[in-house]
Amino acid sequence: MNILILGSGGREHALAWAVMQNPKCDKLIVAPGNAGIAQIADCASLDILSGAAVVNFCEENAIDFVIVGPEAPLAEGVADRLRDAGILVFGPSAAAAKLEASKSFTKEICDAANAPTAGYGHFTDADAAKAHIRANGAPIVVKADGLAAGKGVIVAMDEQTALDAIDDMFGGEFGAAGAEVVIEEFMEGEEASYFILVDGEDCLAIGTAQDHKRVGEGDTGLNTGGMGAYSPAPVLSDEIAEKAMNEIIKPTMKVMADRGMPYQGVLYAGLMIKDGQPRLVEYNVRFGDPECQVLMLRLGAQALDLMQACAEGRLTEAQVNWADDHAMTVVMAAKGYPGAYEKGSVISGLDALPETSTEMCFHAGTGAKDGQIIATGGRVLNVTARGASLKEAADRAYAMVDQIDWPEGFCRRDIGWRAL
Ligand code: AMP
Repeated sequence: MNILILGSGGREHALAWAVMQNPKCDKLIVAPGNAGIAQIADCASLDILSGAAVVNFCEENAIDFVIVGPEAPLAEGVADRLRDAGILVFGPSAAAAKLEASKSFTKEICDAANAPTAGYGHFTDADAAKAHIRANGAPIVVKADGLAAGKGVIVAMDEQTALDAIDDMFGGEFGAAGAEVVIEEFMEGEEASYFILVDGEDCLAIGTAQDHKRVGEGDTGLNTGGMGAYSPAPVLSDEIAEKAMNEIIKPTMKVMADRGMPYQGVLYAGLMIKDGQPRLVEYNVRFGDPECQVLMLRLGAQALDLMQACAEGRLTEAQVNWADDHAMTVVMAAKGYPGAYEKGSVISGLDALPETSTEMCFHAGTGAKDGQIIATGGRVLNVTARGASLKEAADRAYAMVDQIDWPEGFCRRDIGWRAL
């Protein structure tokens, strides 16, 4: 098989690494890729938001299978264009990708499926939104309806913060994404991520994970794209995961299919768990980053077979062969992130790192310059390891971190603290 992966982050490096383990893969191209991906696959520059450009590239390069990493090409309909052209693709249609692109759409699907989630109101008018906040009081959650790169959610612990968030959103802070606002009941509990392949009809769970969003140790400080993750998530026991599957995932996927928008690809369910009951916080229509890194390290080569079975509508025949193990990824970021940070600093020591089926340093924001690896983004490396226990995975990941010589970078030293 000739395979094309779209994207350029740690997630796509992990996908590429897993795909490369599988003997079915004859050729792998990642567009646009990054310096770490370039060490294991060909990278190509391509406008991945243009369906026409991607289809054209596939035809020129005899691509058999396309795996879409990030949400933006999905929301743009790139998977639809590939399907129209008869090219096998892993990723939902633009219509189904609304599960991530519109919060009010997802709420409405949950209502129709009777799936447990936070109570909510949906507003296009600031005065009505503020009246709703005053009537319900804090804590309360204000969300821009559209894609806002993970920044359009304000968890307001007091009423004034919520009212100010309304002014910001209708004032254009999140652009068109904030022209509609969803206001949700605040849910207490512990969060976990549940990853499920869906082939339009059938669902197959492929793992659980938890991540750390805050920049500081002890989960303090500013929100980030994620400073580390581990899998499995102890809070998502088999029993609770099954409940989530039967009460949330399957019913909502059935509503999508019944409405003519069957979902195909990986579904990432953000869940809030309290007293043994899962409720849906959000859906994403792609793998999480950095959660994908721990999932891929645990799944290895079979990830390709699973994604292919999903794209071909054969999930009933597929099964996951689990090693009874744990994985952890530690994100190394440029000092200053998530605020202002310098680009271009040199990272040394990467060549000496182990690259085995249980230890990998996945690259996110890196580039190559004069034969050296340099930092080109905020989140730069995902140091990932597997172990028989989470403690072993953590020890191995941090041992790798300690081998990396990058004075301009930092990481959290407490990834997994809750579970450990
Ligand atoms: P979302 O983008 O919808 O996942 O929201 C981002 C984060 O905000 C989530 O991961 C939660 O930590 C928090 N959050 C979102 N909705 C709620 C809610 N209804 N209750 C409590 N926390 C929430």
